[in-house]
Amino acid sequence: MAKHFNIPVFLPELACPFQCSYCNQAAISGIKRMPGAMEVKQLIERNLHSFPKGEKEVEIAFFGGNFTGLSPGLQREYLSLAEEYVATTEIKGIRLSTRPDYISKPVLDLLKEFTVTTIELGAQSLDDEVLALSGRGHTAAQVLSAAALIRDYGFRLGLQMMIGLPGDNFEKSIYTAETIIAAGADETRIYPCLVIRDTALEKEFNSGKFHVSDLQTAVTWVAQLLLRFERAGVRVIRIGLHPSEDFSTGGLVAGPFHPSLKEMVLSEIWKSLFDEYPDWPAASEILVKVPQGQLNFAVGYAASNKKHLLSRFNHIGFTTDASLQHRQFRVEVVKC
Ligand code: SF4
Repeated sequence: MAKHFNIPVFLPELACPFQCSYCNQAAISGIKRMPGAMEVKQLIERNLHSFPKGEKEVEIAFFGGNFTGLSPGLQREYLSLAEEYVATTEIKGIRLSTRPDYISKPVLDLLKEFTVTTIELGAQSLDDEVLALSGRGHTAAQVLSAAALIRDYGFRLGLQMMIGLPGDNFEKSIYTAETIIAAGADETRIYPCLVIRDTALEKEFNSGKFHVSDLQTAVTWVAQLLLRFERAGVRVIRIGLHPSEDFSTGGLVAGPFHPSLKEMVLSEIWKSLFDEYPDWPAASEILVKVPQGQLNFAVGYAASNKKHLLSRFNHIGFTTDASLQHRQFRVEVVKC
């Protein structure tokens, strides 16, 4: 399968009609103004030259604020600029993110004039109470009707979700994931809610009205969501924020942030598989064989799973076995 690369063009929240309580895009992205045409061109060209040779699928991705909240003129300017590269280089198409309440037939008609492949909506939650408490300014019903319209127009659909928002809990996040699946999303992103500097949520956090989840709770929570999405064939294209320098040097006030969150989540899934395995042999030394590409996660983040299993065995080794698929594993006794 061709490897996928995005060329991210970050548009800050200048187009947002609302201020979601947790959001300070400038602190997250480090970008505080809209990029000009020349900057976007330079960014695209720099990225194009940095990709490895070989089969790949490249898209220009307008992320950040709400692309379809920009004026139609500005949307056309950015899209025309991107379209030049779609016509003349190996870039396959354009993807963008926006708010559910900024999707309508005229909006999608405009996007259809260009090679827009995927539209990602910040759904965040499909629970109306969570949406209201987070200041999202739209309802779950609006997410679902926007999602249906996007699919009717033939775009690929991304529905992003967050966990741990004000009023959220594990059951609500499972409901959100299942509704995202039922809405026909092709892909999703899962972001644990963080408290970012200069946001309404920071005030709630400081006054004790909002509590963040701890890292381990977020890891187990996201692991459950990831398994559901995997089973339904919904691609999870990101777990957790990818912070800029700016964010990592002061934007984060509190919350379950970790640069290796995805690895921790995948390790957690392997830990559960090992915990549920009924046939561990009575031996002092074993070898666990896992599929290629799964070795690091089976061993665990910071060797956590290996250390966990060492409570049962004196020695344990891990290796890959090309005949194994997905998350199958095989246990061999090395020494009784
Ligand atoms: S809609 Fe998105 S970019 Fe705008 S304030 Fe909310 S989270 Fe931030």
